[in-house]
Amino acid sequence: MKRWLTIMALMFIVVGCRNGETNNSLVETDLQAHEPDEGIIIEEKEEENPTLSESDTEMEDAVVEKKEAMYKINEKTWAVEPIEEANEKIVLLTIDDAPDKHGLEMAHTLKALGVKAIFFVNGHFIDTEDEAAVLKEIYDLGFPIGNHTFSHQNLTTLEKKEQLKEIVSVNDRVEEITGERPRFFRAPFGVNTDESRKIAAEENMLIMNWTYGYDWEKEYQNKEALTQIMLNSPYLNHGANLLMHDRAWTSEALEGIVKGLQEKGYEIVDPNLLKMPE
Ligand SMILES: [Zn+2]
Repeated sequence: MKRWLTIMALMFIVVGCRNGETNNSLVETDLQAHEPDEGIIIEEKEEENPTLSESDTEMEDAVVEKKEAMYKINEKTWAVEPIEEANEKIVLLTIDDAPDKHGLEMAHTLKALGVKAIFFVNGHFIDTEDEAAVLKEIYDLGFPIGNHTFSHQNLTTLEKKEQLKEIVSVNDRVEEITGERPRFFRAPFGVNTDESRKIAAEENMLIMNWTYGYDWEKEYQNKEALTQIMLNSPYLNHGANLLMHDRAWTSEALEGIVKGLQEKGYEIVDPNLLKMPE
């Protein structure tokens, strides 16, 4: 596949700190677990994101085999909406900050359940050969790989060149490992910039945040509580875009969450059915 941007041969500084992500009232905080265990969670609030502009898309880049689009992402709510006659009682599963310690296990769980999810990966989790092998296995299990930047920094704090590195290096690396560039982009903390939107467009990536998630909140960091809230959240409705993370408790809760969603009549939507930028 043709590359539109050159590889920046600069070293990245992996920030071992913690961050948070916010979309309206919903806060994501991920611990980038280089530490042996989960560590401390810090929450940060951010403004709601401006809507996505699609101005800079002029790619004729070609594309991996795609299914006909049946759903689109609402750029204001980040919900998944049917384009025409598709089933509207669906939810999308997304796993962020992968592949850390539990991503592969989560992929196997989802595979056994016969459902798909997007794994949004950070570049610092795939820079060794062992880590690359894990990513390849997740990809080979049939899961789309999304770009969550190299080191999970707030893009508003970075120069354009740094944003380019943060985003494009991940696509280059994922392509090197799987043969396919990511088609989905999720900014750390859900905070995009004009530059990140431009880069996502140049890279033919669909930008998305999420509609709800809870696994970064202390009271939901166990299997039972997380399963309950994911299934009984007031935000669970048609087209919900579920944010989960590569975490022990989320991995443990995952099967119950998927089965519970299905028992409530929700279909887990295949991300390959999403309409991509033109
Ligand atoms: Zn994240």
